[in-house]
Amino acid sequence: MDSNQVTSYQAFEVTEQDDGSFAQAIVTKDVPSLKEGHVLIKVEYSAINYKDALSSTGNKGVTREYPHVPGIDASGTVLSSSSDEFKAGQQVVVTGHDLGMNTDGGYGQVIHVPESWVHSLPEGFSTQDAAVLGTAGITASLCIDKLLMTGIGPESGPVLVTGATGGVGSIAVALLVDMGFEVYAVSGKADQHERLRALGVTEVFGREELSESNKRPLLKGRWAAAIDTVGGVPLENILKSLMPQGTAAICGLVSSPALAMTVFPFILRGINLVGIDSAEVSSAKKAAMWAFMQEHSSILQGYQDWVTPITLDQLPEYIDRILKGGAAGRTLVKVS
Ligand code: NDP
Repeated sequence: MDSNQVTSYQAFEVTEQDDGSFAQAIVTKDVPSLKEGHVLIKVEYSAINYKDALSSTGNKGVTREYPHVPGIDASGTVLSSSSDEFKAGQQVVVTGHDLGMNTDGGYGQVIHVPESWVHSLPEGFSTQDAAVLGTAGITASLCIDKLLMTGIGPESGPVLVTGATGGVGSIAVALLVDMGFEVYAVSGKADQHERLRALGVTEVFGREELSESNKRPLLKGRWAAAIDTVGGVPLENILKSLMPQGTAAICGLVSSPALAMTVFPFILRGINLVGIDSAEVSSAKKAAMWAFMQEHSSILQGYQDWVTPITLDQLPEYIDRILKGGAAGRTLVKVS
């Protein structure tokens, strides 16, 4: 596909209907003309992140205006570029920023994005590897980066990961195990507990372990650190159960965005609560996170076990699955 030859491409587009509902369809779109400082990319792979599922079903907190092509991750090859940094034929990856939110995203065979969003494909990674990791990998890496910044290391003690079979959770578990951490996991999927243990997780708990609201301001200190993707009551229980000087890195809200608790764990145990925004983190930080994942590229070995490859026409079924909390690992979308 060459931008000089190709004038149209296929995309999974979401449109708002007159009755306020949202429809999804594969449509043909025109390749936009290249703007100054922009790059036109032929997308080979994308993935399904929780945010993509929200955008694909009309969540205006993620996507204000429809029709829209979701997909916050995209990897592929530069078709044409008005940037000095990127040349036609170069393999690249884009995650986050406004991609797939209010800029047409990776569920289209072509994206047109500012050069500052684009990263050269990290050496040793294929375009498929880059999409398997994508936003989930960047987010898991940022969580670990913040744990390290607050002085947490493998010697600090056990680390708990929630939503452990989800995209972010799966990669966080794999990275932490690879770094030598003692990892505990919370997962609602009983049929995945054995797989998590085989990955090196010491113990896997069901979601009920953290789901009960507790009036006590502090619980027994169990975790040196946590990576939480779910929020709500589970996060409250985690914060109350951190050991002194422990850190919770939080990125998600699949359980709830609410947090109702006292300041006691903070002022009596000196714990840290650190937040992650993978979309707007600086380009330099994203590059550092890609380099971090390169160092731990062995986590990609045998990824067939936790990656489900699909095509654009299968998106509705898998989007529904992730919204119901039923997706395991990463869903890799082969776009072209
Ligand atoms: P996934 O759906 O892949 O993973 C979420 C996992 O959470 C599920 O697989 C499931 O794992 C668990 N889960 C689902 N529903 C519930 C529930 N009601 N209560 C408790 N656990 C539940 O999503 P992602 O990994 O893509 O994203 C996870 C979260 O992180 C989302 O909220 C997303 O918006 C957020 N996120 C934030 C980013 C940021 O930059 N801040 C970037 C990327 C994601 P299991 O069955 O194993 O329990």
